[in-house]
Amino acid sequence: PPLGKKEPIGRIGEDSFSKYVGSTRFDQLPISKKTKSGLKDAGFVKMTDIQRASLPHSLCGRDILGAAKTGSGKTLAFVIPVLEKLYKERWGPEDGVGSIIISPTRELADQLFDVLKAVGKHHNFSAGLLIGGRRDVDMEKEHVNELNILVCTPGRLLQHMDETPNFDCSQLQILILDEADRILDVGFKKALNAIVSQLPKHRQTFLFSATQTKSVQDLARLSLKDPEYLSVHEES
Ligand code: ADP
Ligand code: MG
Repeated sequence: PPLGKKEPIGRIGEDSFSKYVGSTRFDQLPISKKTKSGLKDAGFVKMTDIQRASLPHSLCGRDILGAAKTGSGKTLAFVIPVLEKLYKERWGPEDGVGSIIISPTRELADQLFDVLKAVGKHHNFSAGLLIGGRRDVDMEKEHVNELNILVCTPGRLLQHMDETPNFDCSQLQILILDEADRILDVGFKKALNAIVSQLPKHRQTFLFSATQTKSVQDLARLSLKDPEYLSVHEES
């Protein structure tokens, strides 16, 4: 028996994450087999810079303020920790909403939902896309509390917070503000403030953005706790 071996099983602690900082492939990360097979099936093998920089921190529970340009792979940098967080917490159908991912537009929400479905396909979480438009909000209202992961635009999420009876996100574990600069550009600052103020304070939060503007920094101050700052800009 490996006496004295102190490797954490399935979970990494605050002081053990540093040994994963040099990893370059997803299969070197301390993540579940389910997520690893989802990544492999979708053809993801090597991490991009922002993924390599952020995952060792996000996987051990830190808040993240991440800036990296469009196309740098920010989606997987939060989809993987969302799946892992709920998996570690043994999140199940009865537990309700465990993660909320906020995206600026229907199209972007739709795209990231596809990534979530592909990479998360071996997990048993339920996920829903709440993005307004012609979708039937009354139907959504009946089912929204059964979902574990909500992918939403700010307007539609706020509509559920305001109108859906018993809408419950009191157990929220992890909040993602994706493309935060664009969320703010399209005029959702007030909506975001209203949303964040209604969410439980004890949670993990990531804010990803292509640019760091003043209003992104304001939002970061409001929503993040002692975040890890990561700014990745590829060398030309
Ligand atoms: P961003 O949100 O930073 O604009 P995305 O997450 O949308 O970037 O990713 C941009 C593109 O790169 C997508 O087509 C995605 O499938 C691809 N991609 C992301 N991460 C990887 C990776 N580790 N390996 C290969 N392709 C990747
Ligand atoms: Mg993106």
